[in-house]
Amino acid sequence: MAGSSQSQTPLNRLKGVGPRVAEKLARLDIHCIEDLLFHLPLRYEDRTRVVPIGSLRAGDSAVVQGEVQLTEIKYGRKRMLLCHLSDGTGRLLLRFFHFNAQQKESLARGVSLRCYGEARKGAHSLEMVHPEYRRVDPDAELNAVEESLTPIYPTTEGLHQLTLRALTEQALQLLRENKLALSELLPESILAQNQFPQLAQALEYIHRPPPDAPVQALQDREHIMQTRLAFEELLAYTCSMRQLRSLTAEHEAISLPASDRLKPALLAGLPFSLTAAQQRVIQEIEHDLQQGHPMQRLVQGDVGSGKTLVAVCALLSAIEAGYQAVMMAPTEILAEQHFKNISQWLTPMGIHICWLSGKLPAAERRTAITAIENGEAQVIVGTHALFQEQVTFHHLALVVIDEQHRFGVHQRLALREKGVKAGKYPHQLIMTATPIPRTLTMTVYADLDCSVIDELPPGRKPVETVVIPDSRRADVVHRVKVACDQGRQVYWVCSLIEESEVLQCQAAEDTAQSLAAALPQVRVGLVHGRLKPEQKEQTMQQFKQHKLDLLVATTVIEVGVDVPNASLMIIENAERFGLAQLHQLRGRVGRGTQDSACVLMYHGGLSENARARLAAMRETNDGFVIARKDLELRGPGEILGTRQTGMLQLRIADLVKHQDLLPRLQRWTDELVLSQPQRVTQLINRWVGHNQRFAQV
Ligand code: ADP
Ligand code: MG
Repeated sequence: MAGSSQSQTPLNRLKGVGPRVAEKLARLDIHCIEDLLFHLPLRYEDRTRVVPIGSLRAGDSAVVQGEVQLTEIKYGRKRMLLCHLSDGTGRLLLRFFHFNAQQKESLARGVSLRCYGEARKGAHSLEMVHPEYRRVDPDAELNAVEESLTPIYPTTEGLHQLTLRALTEQALQLLRENKLALSELLPESILAQNQFPQLAQALEYIHRPPPDAPVQALQDREHIMQTRLAFEELLAYTCSMRQLRSLTAEHEAISLPASDRLKPALLAGLPFSLTAAQQRVIQEIEHDLQQGHPMQRLVQGDVGSGKTLVAVCALLSAIEAGYQAVMMAPTEILAEQHFKNISQWLTPMGIHICWLSGKLPAAERRTAITAIENGEAQVIVGTHALFQEQVTFHHLALVVIDEQHRFGVHQRLALREKGVKAGKYPHQLIMTATPIPRTLTMTVYADLDCSVIDELPPGRKPVETVVIPDSRRADVVHRVKVACDQGRQVYWVCSLIEESEVLQCQAAEDTAQSLAAALPQVRVGLVHGRLKPEQKEQTMQQFKQHKLDLLVATTVIEVGVDVPNASLMIIENAERFGLAQLHQLRGRVGRGTQDSACVLMYHGGLSENARARLAAMRETNDGFVIARKDLELRGPGEILGTRQTGMLQLRIADLVKHQDLLPRLQRWTDELVLSQPQRVTQLINRWVGHNQRFAQV
């Protein structure tokens, strides 16, 4: 992906690249020789020396050389060819499941073989299953091994490692002779201050590490040569985000003054006052809204920090100025809840709120759409599907996207495009309860401004969390009874133990039934994904109004659901949930003033990772700590949802491994953008390339 605007060296300058190979390379996104050099090895094999069989340990991958003692076919459940090899220091068994008669012939007693493979523990000696091997002259060739570690490249069907090796070898040769359009883009100052090697040196090393190279460090992508490339890649990424941001800054938006009528009226009617953090974030938002350029702001705040109210204050700025605002949530349940809350707050003030759901009856839907089109609807609440539909707004000024950290840059921009009218872009506010460490935020969300609600409303108590095996289910059921007897409400979350949604909902139904039978005086409700929306809604409403004591649910209640009297959360098969999800679920309790608890029930033996997750839950209630732990345990791809959105496809950098680089990155990005715009473009082309389609928006 070495950039379309830079001069490229065509692949057919390499020996062995005809149309067929070129087509396969294209599948790997390799379109020129420069691209080939950025196609980096996945791992390495050490074929730089012949290892004595006697010194091999199970798990080692190595080259060995020895004399065949015996080759036999063994007949059993599976036919296999066994070849016994010895080099005087030890014995090794080669095992083949696929073989032919000639192969047996060629492995005759007395023949010398050189093999490469992974040694495994066998019944009598170490073994290699299907090793690579060739016959050698025992004396002449002992030294003829590879001169560097053998790179193993990511490849595609029909493209052999040997081909990739031969092609990269030629490319490296051209690089050595300075015949490629591959310039050093990192300024001397960056290289010097970080003690980074030159680009050419790093590429050479990574493609062909010398025999004494630390294989493990390379494998883990922690070698300075790789760090250097990772830094360049991250720099390219942040530069591209920065560029995107300056493009946004050039767009026009409707300038919205802070609400000085509706907002004070709303706040005066609330039974509590804003926390200092809420006030600060609201101010930050109001400042953005006045600018005449589209706001792109991310608000992070732990579960229960009061993000909804912050969003509503933003909505009021739009409404008071005479425009429309949209509030979107990822699920129907959440959107409904927002609709209820917002209506409760704003309807008394004479504001027209419109509910738009994919599931509305046709007539109501038409009414809603008409109201949106003629501007009667001032606030529109719905799921994300809202924007995918054929809805035209009368004059939209602000879009709030709730609980959506899984929104990639592309989606954010596409969404914004839909709201453009007469050259004016809507403002965007994105809210998430999945905080990530600050430096990471600045990288991943470099196109957004960030606000953090780093304070919970007063009186919240940490949720006491216990982890117990499900063999003690009876105790847990008793605990539910005690809580309900005391007038508290309880959630019981059923796990994802079933792959299919149908079975999962069935499991929840069974649980609800057995709990109802075990606790006759407790009023039990059930919500899961396969109920009709109105059934779900009705049950949720009953639970809110305390007409139900116990709510059995699947993870549909994961985010946002708000019932302050609920003080006990039971999570079944908790070991199956990710940390962020557990934290979200636990966040459903501890919203009132009474003591709350969360019981994490697990089934069977725990994996190390599951144990670590549950321990983290027991030890902390702090969403930021949880997020950091989650990052360690799962890696950033999962957390940021990048797998789904393709938001951050990094080739060599790893946001966890290279997190030390992130703080330095911001400073260098600023500096580079200011002093060397030319290089910035080249960097982006080299690393972000056509991934950066979105920058054209
Ligand atoms: P989240 O940030 O998880 O979306 P919510 O917006 O649902 O949190 O708020 C959680 C609960 O806290 C709601 O019942 C809300 O009315 C209440 N709340 C919001 N701000 C405050 C505050 N400043 N003081 C007390 N309660 C508040
Ligand atoms: Mg919320």
